[in-house]
Amino acid sequence: MTAGDMKLVVVGAGGRMGQTLIRTIHAIDGARLFAAIERPGSPFVGKDAGELAGLGPIGVKVTDQPLEAFVEAEGVLDFTAPTASVEFAGLAAQARIVHVIGTTGCSADDDAKIAAAARHARIVKSGNMSLGVNLLAVVAEQAARALDASDWDIEILEMHHRHKVDAPSGTALLLGEAAARGRGIALADNSVRVRDGHTGARVAGTIGFAALRGGSVVGEHSVVLAGEGELVTLSHSAGDRAIFARGAVKAALWARDKKPGLYTMLDVLGLN
Ligand code: NAP
Repeated sequence: MTAGDMKLVVVGAGGRMGQTLIRTIHAIDGARLFAAIERPGSPFVGKDAGELAGLGPIGVKVTDQPLEAFVEAEGVLDFTAPTASVEFAGLAAQARIVHVIGTTGCSADDDAKIAAAARHARIVKSGNMSLGVNLLAVVAEQAARALDASDWDIEILEMHHRHKVDAPSGTALLLGEAAARGRGIALADNSVRVRDGHTGARVAGTIGFAALRGGSVVGEHSVVLAGEGELVTLSHSAGDRAIFARGAVKAALWARDKKPGLYTMLDVLGLN
């Protein structure tokens, strides 16, 4: 630990990503865990964050006081739930710090509130913080641009562990947005999120989604481009949550000297 290390707060510290973030910050030069937050009433409040994450004691106790932590910190890493992330964005704006949001399943209204908070906070939000998926999004956009929509259908498949609560995944939507950008269309007006029963034939130019849930799968995504007599499959397989945590820390360090605003991982990785 050195004096210039970025002081980071992990919210949702007891969650799957929260614990991974605590371990990742511990292992990365240039960042240090300044505080760890859980919701009031959580059994984790008062526990040592390092012990919670399997590191052994590190002298940072989990609290339920986010603003108190934010005003003394430089950045927040947030993989929680939409309502919590909207609230944390408001607090990050008050504290004028960096807010990295990995939470998925946000509504348009949640996103509008987060964008408003980005007038004062430096917010990096992405449905997937890994380098591989962001690269895949760039490739999917190029493929969608190159292949004629009247001849090539685009379908996005994802599979996640049995505990995941939103569908399609934030990553599937991120890939869908990339494909829609490549085609010059709005995803919201052209996506097929569910198919059941007598659906009729596929409408040309749409982007379809399919979500599978089960076991402990960290994240599997494929963008399938289906033409007459040939199939192109672009895919990414996440084997370890640390890829998202490393991306989140990288995003915080990147945003440290940026102006307030809403950024994505494509900005962080220079892929925009
Ligand atoms: P999880 O294990 O359920 O963890 C979420 C944590 O947030 C829990 O500890 C939860 O506490 C806590 N939380 C919820 N509301 C809170 C509040 N108001 N204040 C403080 N803590 C609060 O879920 P996960 O698998 O880590 O995933 C979390 C989110 O990250 C999901 O939206 C997931 O899709 C997303 N994710 C994104 C990426 C990416 O790269 N962008 C990668 C992986 C996951 P309780 O248990 O008490 O509710």
